[in-house]
Amino acid sequence: MTSLESLIHTELDEPVPSKVLVIVAHPDDIDFGAAGSVATFADHGIEVVYALVTDGDAGEPADLTPLELKNIRQAEQEAAGAVVGVSEIHWLGFRDGAVVADLDLRRGVTRVIRQVQPDLVITQSPIRDLDRIYASHPDHLATGEAVTCAVYPDARNAHSFPELLHEGLEPHSVPRLWLMANAENNLCVDITDAFDRKIDALLAHHSQNDSRAEMLPSMIKEWGESNARRFGVPGRIVESFRCVNTE
Ligand SMILES: [Zn+2]
Repeated sequence: MTSLESLIHTELDEPVPSKVLVIVAHPDDIDFGAAGSVATFADHGIEVVYALVTDGDAGEPADLTPLELKNIRQAEQEAAGAVVGVSEIHWLGFRDGAVVADLDLRRGVTRVIRQVQPDLVITQSPIRDLDRIYASHPDHLATGEAVTCAVYPDARNAHSFPELLHEGLEPHSVPRLWLMANAENNLCVDITDAFDRKIDALLAHHSQNDSRAEMLPSMIKEWGESNARRFGVPGRIVESFRCVNTE
């Protein structure tokens, strides 16, 4: 198998992660931005854990109750995770459509970081991209902001949320943060071999993606190929990120 080092393209001197935590606002956000990388990590024996800030209970279809939507969307995310080798999913239970980067969310994210103890966290960009406004949903921006605050400084600082110490959760320092859906990226993962599984993971979100199942594979492939050209690996398919060194 191709080494993981050779699939990560960056000018930076990046270590290969050993445990990865992906934190996003909604079910299916991971699968749009990072499921190919997740599958690639899993192929190389790296454990990946998910944390979802909301249950997606303000999504489609609008005629279902929030509880019905929650059950459907959690089951869809579990199925999508299984496609790319992820079985551990933490549901943080914040309200879909109402996520704010407040201290409650920072505490919730800090808790899960200390529980999982990753050396790489992947999340959404806290910076609004005015050229791709759908990627900059307010819940995504708030999640990105809270996760960035939790990675630095909350999770590593014993004085942040001292109540977590009483839960037995010691400070944990995460050396790397990768942001999805960021306008300026400095790292990409070659997901060519995992592309079909990324699509299967996306299509596992039937409630969201059945209506666009025909066009989704070609759209996602085009994004990935155009990013690959930007990173000097034409003919491949990549997912790109803004890597933040927090050491
Ligand atoms: Zn979303």
